[in-house]
Amino acid sequence: MIIALAGGVGGARLAHGLARALPPGELTVVVNTGDDFTHLGLNICPDPDTVMYTLAGLADPERGWGVEGETFNAMEALGQLGGENWFSLGDRDLATHIERTRRLALGEPLSTIMADFCARLGIQHGVIPMSDDPIRTIVHTAEGDLPFQDYFVRHRCAPAIARLSFKGTGDASPSPALNDLMQSDRVRGVVICPSNPFLSIDPILAVPGVRPWLQGRKFPCIAISPLIGGKAVKGPAAKIMAELQLDAKPRAIALHYQGLIDGLVIDQEDSADAFGQCLVTSTLMRNMADRERLAREALSYLESLRIV
Ligand code: GDP
Ligand code: CA
Repeated sequence: MIIALAGGVGGARLAHGLARALPPGELTVVVNTGDDFTHLGLNICPDPDTVMYTLAGLADPERGWGVEGETFNAMEALGQLGGENWFSLGDRDLATHIERTRRLALGEPLSTIMADFCARLGIQHGVIPMSDDPIRTIVHTAEGDLPFQDYFVRHRCAPAIARLSFKGTGDASPSPALNDLMQSDRVRGVVICPSNPFLSIDPILAVPGVRPWLQGRKFPCIAISPLIGGKAVKGPAAKIMAELQLDAKPRAIALHYQGLIDGLVIDQEDSADAFGQCLVTSTLMRNMADRERLAREALSYLESLRIV
């Protein structure tokens, strides 16, 4: 079993490549739920849904989130009624939130709902939330402490980040499927996807037990840098690094994951900044072929680091 740790867009793109490169049953994608929130009375899980739609081939390739060919009639009608429409939810996407909210209200855990949705959408690999317990990313800024979606969508990532915290981790457990994998000797390696290290991967590492499990690993673990030429492909990763007084370079990513990874995959544009344990290749995933090629290269690299 290969385990991929992923957030939304960047994570989903590589997870899609891994899903093509590995036979069914040999990949589990563990997804960040720190961005989850309740909105309009609905439980919204942005990163799990992005991974689900992407692996199902339903994702909008341009936007990166939501469903391709989506319409927004409900949002438009909501706006007409004076409702809250700052967080855009497509008509088809709403069905996911409505059905998930109904099942959660009946007491079903998020992971079994996700597993069922994924199976119904034809996904043959595991997609599991990091935890079934609510964990919420809080962005601490000069303008106060902001819930993640307030920072990300309402404020468009403008406030400078002083630090991040993950509310709820104290009482949280890994989801049962993740817990099983952490106990088993079936794990051949872990791939940290090119997701935002601070907003997407750190919440997963903050789930009790996950960081010590990786620190004590008997299998290799690699990360793929989300930065290309000192810039994020999308989103605030480089901006956050500047705010945290970090250089937006491969070494800072490697330092961030110190003790957790055995190698870092970096883009050819950053080859001048390569160091000891690096694989230099093209990491920009514009299309399906890019995703699959990068996934296969990452898997070979991972295999080459197997501790003998
Ligand atoms: P979010 O939850 O939607 O923000 O998704 P992630 O955290 O998974 O992904 C955001 C990160 O993905 C950003 O830091 C991007 O730089 C990175 N990213 C997106 N597409 C690519 C790509 O094609 N290649 C690489 N290397 N990184 C990417
Ligand atoms: Ca996200």
